[in-house]
Amino acid sequence: MYRFQEIWGNASLVAQLRTAVAGGRTSHAYLFFGGEGAGKRLIANAFAKALQCTASRQGDCCDSCKGCLAFDHGNHPDVIYVRGEKKTLGVEEIREQILETVDLKPYQYARKIYIIEKADTMTVQAQNALLKTLEEPPAYALFLLLAQREELFLPTILSRVVTMKLSPLSEGLVAEYLQKHTALSAEESGLYAACAQGRIGQALALTEDESFRKMREDILDMLKALPSMTEADAYLLAKDLEGYKNDLRFLDIMELWYRDLLAAKSLRQEKYLIQKDRKDDIFHGATEPAAVLAKKANAVAEARKRLALNGNFRLTMEVMLMECKEKNQ
Ligand SMILES: [Zn+2]
Repeated sequence: MYRFQEIWGNASLVAQLRTAVAGGRTSHAYLFFGGEGAGKRLIANAFAKALQCTASRQGDCCDSCKGCLAFDHGNHPDVIYVRGEKKTLGVEEIREQILETVDLKPYQYARKIYIIEKADTMTVQAQNALLKTLEEPPAYALFLLLAQREELFLPTILSRVVTMKLSPLSEGLVAEYLQKHTALSAEESGLYAACAQGRIGQALALTEDESFRKMREDILDMLKALPSMTEADAYLLAKDLEGYKNDLRFLDIMELWYRDLLAAKSLRQEKYLIQKDRKDDIFHGATEPAAVLAKKANAVAEARKRLALNGNFRLTMEVMLMECKEKNQ
């Protein structure tokens, strides 16, 4: 299930961890950064499993010893997943799940490994409580922190951990993975890979997400109709988009749409399109001048920036829709 050799992408980071396992030289704490579905859990699990493997070869697990089997069954006695039930990881959780047990030696294996999920949700008090242990950990203890945002950590925590930043994979590699590991066609794989921004986990989640499928249909229908709508009707669409206020993936869909229109315009061949299932709509929409299409794509990117700066959602949508509706420069 979890093996370094089965991980796609992040090759140098994985190689670094494999070298640490093979040489028996690891730090006491690692912090893995990456977006949702980027592979943080996968890499941390492969690392923990390889370290607990009793027959470890060349820095990867053997997949068949007692330790590996226990790990895959999710009942490894010396690998502890630290999780909170609330939105934040509080000092209570850190105390109960880590501090009260960290001084007890591992039951059966070389290391005692704590995998702290969503470590960036630790409160300041929780981080301070953990800090003492990170400063003087027992030799057998290893902490793997998984997080999305670096700025939420105290500098004192960051100075005690080895930081590992996961990079997004190329779209081509994600598509290749999907084709190999799912029942998706080459066309669908390309589409989901483009929507997942280089994250395999995210791509897999999207393929099973009905709400994403529905959102995509709705947004594409809207974009198709937009150029021939009256200004008043286009203006009103901003209200409909408010339903997506907490799910900005609709902007990804919009950007992909204009990307395909531009590809259709300049390259004129279906094979260059990502959304081949909508090829008729795309070639139809691609009748506008390239400069106009580029301007519309830019309007979506601008809207994303404004929202990131806490711009008013409705207003931002109105501005974007007016620019995307416009027929000429
Ligand atoms: Zn093993």
